[in-house]
Amino acid sequence: MPLSEPSPAAVIRSRRAVLPDGERPADVLIRDGRIARIAHHGVLTEGAVTDLGETVLLPGLVDTHVHVNEPGRTEWEGFATATRAAAAGGVTTIIDMPLNSIPPTTTVAGLAAKRKAADGQAWIDLGFWGGAIPGNTAELEPLYRAGVFGFKSFLAPSGVDEFPHLGPADLERALAEQARIGALAIVHAEDPAVLAAAPQRPGVHYRDFLASRPADAETAAVERLLEAAGRTGARVHILHVSSAAVLPLLRRARETGVQVTAETCPHYLTLAAEEVPDGDTAFKCCPPIRDESNRDLLWEALGDGEFIAVVSDHSPSTPDLKELRRYGGSGDFATAWGGIASLQLGLPAVWTEARRRGHGLVDVVRWMAGGPASLVGLTGTKGAIAVGNDADLVAFDPDAEFAVQPDRLHHRNPVTPYAGRRLTGVVRTTWLRGRVVDVTAEPFGRQITRS
Ligand SMILES: [Zn+2]
Repeated sequence: MPLSEPSPAAVIRSRRAVLPDGERPADVLIRDGRIARIAHHGVLTEGAVTDLGETVLLPGLVDTHVHVNEPGRTEWEGFATATRAAAAGGVTTIIDMPLNSIPPTTTVAGLAAKRKAADGQAWIDLGFWGGAIPGNTAELEPLYRAGVFGFKSFLAPSGVDEFPHLGPADLERALAEQARIGALAIVHAEDPAVLAAAPQRPGVHYRDFLASRPADAETAAVERLLEAAGRTGARVHILHVSSAAVLPLLRRARETGVQVTAETCPHYLTLAAEEVPDGDTAFKCCPPIRDESNRDLLWEALGDGEFIAVVSDHSPSTPDLKELRRYGGSGDFATAWGGIASLQLGLPAVWTEARRRGHGLVDVVRWMAGGPASLVGLTGTKGAIAVGNDADLVAFDPDAEFAVQPDRLHHRNPVTPYAGRRLTGVVRTTWLRGRVVDVTAEPFGRQITRS
């Protein structure tokens, strides 16, 4: 069916629809790819009715932190594989990070290369972040006009040479420009001086890796960023908060009028340093997974509304770069690629732990759909079962359990720290703009831009 052809009206019915005001029985009428009406359960008859029974109806998740790596490092992750994994995991919108593709999305030409590479390959909708690196300040406004959702920068080395980090003067310049054009600055906040001073003990022991990326690196970087945000008036968003020690800094900055939001990730909420096996570099990411008591504090903050979003930071590489022992690698945490692949597993991972801690699906939807949508200005299109929004929907069985089998995941490389773990919650069907996403048929995802 061509993209322009209006799809016929249809109804999806569930005894458990997770709406913005809570979970209740509802009929959702879909017309032309949008949610046209939400009615009491069992009353709508227009078009075909899909009755989910007790299976939960969620809005499609919005994941604003995904590294697709195509073009240039497609062997790490490409658009087809990443978006298939997303659809299978109940994610219907991703915003792609401006690195580790080559070129990075730090110029308008780089954005064009991304768009061309993604064309016709996406099973879900996707948009793009731009990147702020030393020397590209003049590119930010044209990139923003071209539709990127904001700009990512690093305060410490990013891991790839073509995406250098911002020193203090570069940061000031980049934030001032982003404040001027009104763009959101999203920042990887670890401090290079603290990292350089930390003990470096290569090897297979996770505790040595953890000591090399101390929580102080996060707090020092966040402090510096918040000061710069205060001076420049830039809106800043702290990516992948792993240390709960940064949370009081955010609270204090907000009290003084700094516009700051923060996100955390499924792996920081569901995994802990104590349980990382020696040599299992699938668990390596930066900043690192910290200890259990820190994880409890992250959950507390999440419950208190201190994080606007829980997003994957899906950042895979090939198994050899991950130094995985079962692929003949060294298992050395110091040299392994730092990044965790979890696009397909974020929802069940977070739900399994959220439920154990007394949270409901309304909370999970706020963290993983509504919150991230609002971060990037997509409220009104994505992230909620609400009239006028795109009919991006997920049928979710919150009680079904499964054991994670890496080779059954859709992302390109079968590497995940969740391997073998039993998770609760299974995605049964994903709809994008009212149509079932069938990964054996043709993809019909669209590229979206900041509106
Ligand atoms: Zn990332």
